[in-house]
Amino acid sequence: MKLYNTLSKRVEEFIPNEEGKVKMYTCGPTVYNYAHIGNLRTYIFEDVLQKGLEYLGYDVKRVMNITDVGHLTSDADTGNDKMLEGAKREGKDVMEIANFYTEEFLDDMRSLNIKVPEIIVKATDCIPTYIEMIQKMIDEGYAYLSNGNVYFDISKAKDYYKLSGKNPDDLKIGVRDSVEEDVAKRNPADFVLWFTVSKFENQILKWDSPWGVGYPGWHIECSGISYKTLGEYLDIHCGGVDNIFPHHSNEIAQSEAFLGHKWCNYWCHGAHLNDKSGKMSKSSGEFLRLALLEEKGYSPLDYRYFCLNSHYRNSLVFSYESLDIAKKALAKLRNKVMALDSSMDVEEEKMRPYIKKFKESFENDINTSMMITVLYDVLKAEDINDTTKLAIVKDFDKVLSLDLCAVQEKEINDSFEEEILAKIEERKQAKADKDFKKADTIRDELLSKGVRLIDSREGTTYELI
Ligand code: AMP
Ligand code: ZN
Repeated sequence: MKLYNTLSKRVEEFIPNEEGKVKMYTCGPTVYNYAHIGNLRTYIFEDVLQKGLEYLGYDVKRVMNITDVGHLTSDADTGNDKMLEGAKREGKDVMEIANFYTEEFLDDMRSLNIKVPEIIVKATDCIPTYIEMIQKMIDEGYAYLSNGNVYFDISKAKDYYKLSGKNPDDLKIGVRDSVEEDVAKRNPADFVLWFTVSKFENQILKWDSPWGVGYPGWHIECSGISYKTLGEYLDIHCGGVDNIFPHHSNEIAQSEAFLGHKWCNYWCHGAHLNDKSGKMSKSSGEFLRLALLEEKGYSPLDYRYFCLNSHYRNSLVFSYESLDIAKKALAKLRNKVMALDSSMDVEEEKMRPYIKKFKESFENDINTSMMITVLYDVLKAEDINDTTKLAIVKDFDKVLSLDLCAVQEKEINDSFEEEILAKIEERKQAKADKDFKKADTIRDELLSKGVRLIDSREGTTYELI
């Protein structure tokens, strides 16, 4: 398996710490609003990475955090708390906001066939871990207390800029230009581990700590959750490219200061999805979220297919024209799969070369568009029978998760057939009762499940679409 590692800036052979096992950490959402489809692109890439590794036979333990406290709108420590902003905007309390948007996020994940990580941890559930880590960093001289807050001293970190490749002078200019400098810091790039002096009025979530009542900085959350759930060594850490600096750079600095050794070997970052204006935004213009795409007639899996057609390290521009192309291509693909005859014998040895090519495409730094090309090769192949093709498609779909065989599966599923026949009967009765609205609703409901009703003088039959 070859993966591009942001740490070394090259494609590297992937070797986990423990043979056959992968510990994977993926930064999760800040639950102050819905996820936009850019965020979802990153989660789709992480899902393919996890499933692809599992396809290769690795046992993957994946963790994701839910940031429900302390994510600032600006990466400098002077921004506003996104959670508080969300609560203010909607007149709710912070926990209501967090719970609501966490559920919405998980719904989006499920609609996109993203496997919900085995372990999801809320930032507010790990306060004692952050306190333990911060205390050790203070004791060992990596962190200091100033003006009521605890800061990480980046000059003590081993090669603080190794992940981002930035240089301190660029950053000084950035800090001077964009935000007022925090005079409590020893170095401009130092960051807060624990706030006791809140910049926010009505700071609701607060905990007692050795340094006073306060709350954790954003970055310590991921280091703490990873340490608590995955231990001292991590194989892969993922996120979008915007996370490289400062978030992931700070995670490395504090985790390695606390642990006293290298922490994570592979850092994988997904490039952004942008709209035509150049940036995906949750506040200005049309908020591009999954529900909006659905309103416009696209299914979540049309969007997943759209994402899989490009490489995760290339930035991608969203347009409805491109999504249209993806939607049509996916429908065609499903039709081809549906037309396959499932009554023949599977010739397993004929599956092997295609599976090998599919694996190689994944192993080549997650080349999803090549994986899809292999899928098309299977459907076009003349040397394998339909049922073997179907078996291969089903196998590939463990990673692609595009429900490519859903209709085929429905076809062989007796209980689904019973459900359709019962609905047809119910609709017949509704028509007899002159309840045409109900009859139409039943027809549309079945259509949305891929079943088209055909009315004739002899009665109603159906076809799977
Ligand atoms: P957030 O909820 O802002 O913390 O972001 C959640 C995830 O989405 C993080 O991994 C970000 O790096 C990623 N992300 C943010 N904006 C985009 C974008 N436009 N395209 C792809 N991923 C993004
Ligand atoms: Zn994180």
